[in-house]
Amino acid sequence: MNKTHHEKLIDKFNRHINYVRISVTDRCDFRCTYCMSEKMQFVPRAQLLTLEEIAFIAQAFTELGVEKIRITGGEPLIRKNVMQLFENIGKLPKLKELTITTNGSKLLTLAQPLKDAGVQRINISLDSLDPERFRKITRTGNLESVISGIDKALSLDFKKLKINSVILKNRNHDEVIDLVNFAIDRKIDISFIEEMPLGIIDEHNRDEVYYSSDQIKTDLECSHELIPTAISTGGPSRYYKIIDTETKVGFISPHSHNFCSQCNRVRLTAEGQLLLCLGQEHSVSLKKIIRKFPGDIEELKNVIRNAMDIKPKGHEFDLSEKPIIFRHMNVTGG
Ligand code: SAM
Ligand code: SF4
Repeated sequence: MNKTHHEKLIDKFNRHINYVRISVTDRCDFRCTYCMSEKMQFVPRAQLLTLEEIAFIAQAFTELGVEKIRITGGEPLIRKNVMQLFENIGKLPKLKELTITTNGSKLLTLAQPLKDAGVQRINISLDSLDPERFRKITRTGNLESVISGIDKALSLDFKKLKINSVILKNRNHDEVIDLVNFAIDRKIDISFIEEMPLGIIDEHNRDEVYYSSDQIKTDLECSHELIPTAISTGGPSRYYKIIDTETKVGFISPHSHNFCSQCNRVRLTAEGQLLLCLGQEHSVSLKKIIRKFPGDIEELKNVIRNAMDIKPKGHEFDLSEKPIIFRHMNVTGG
């Protein structure tokens, strides 16, 4: 069949790509130690895609069978006029699910507009329940405002809220049970993420703070009974139900459990670079295409289809080596 008639995005390894994560800014009001160095160089604003361009690319993806879009960053909710983008993407007829990953700092005021724009799920990052430690990990964050944001979102009946926690040895590994109890109290899910070697950071040595998903699971089993579930998001998470609660706990384990064979996603950076793999450099500039052929959605769709041919088989993270990926997570769109 002629490639241009494909309604689906299928790569060389027969993986079906139906999920796009879009970073709308690399900037952030936090400076989490595992994500950024203290002094960061951000992309000059003039180099970013405009919100209209992002919406246009989102439309092209939905016309190619993408059903789920996650807006992320950096901190997506600090981009000026970003709510306009949520409203426009929320109206795309073929999109089944619009989601966001946020640090929660702006949720108190923006949870309602997100809900009104059609956002169904929110992932909120929360690594510590101790205000001082929270400040230390995020360098600038305020725990209380994040928790009020989470509680505001809870009151609005989103389809799903989930907590994401990056666990680091001797930083917050002793909080895994407290974090799970926080989620249980609120009847929401929680995922624990192993730190990934994305970009150069200055606060710690990544292999010294490595704390594996298996260690977290063992810690949790001291106080909770976990039952494996078959839930698959096409992503790196494995989920367990916590018995006698409404909470599931996920483990995102790029080191200890390779998930690439199930990969169903690609990422768009705030500068308009389509990244085919979180852990590799393969990419295509969609910004160049939409600026060369303004308004030509067929040309854009063709470039996206062809890009699937360079989606690599998988990542090759190795904590003992210098980072092979110089992009920080805030650029990649975690
Ligand atoms: N600012 C938003 C937030 O923090 O939720 C969205 C972007 S942030 C890059 C997305 C997720 O990536 C967060 O849950 C964060 O904890 C995680 N993250 C950042 N750097 C990471 C790293 N080096 N390894 C693993 N996860 C990372
Ligand atoms: Fe900002 Fe999210 Fe990175 Fe923390 S993890 S610095 S909140 S982009």
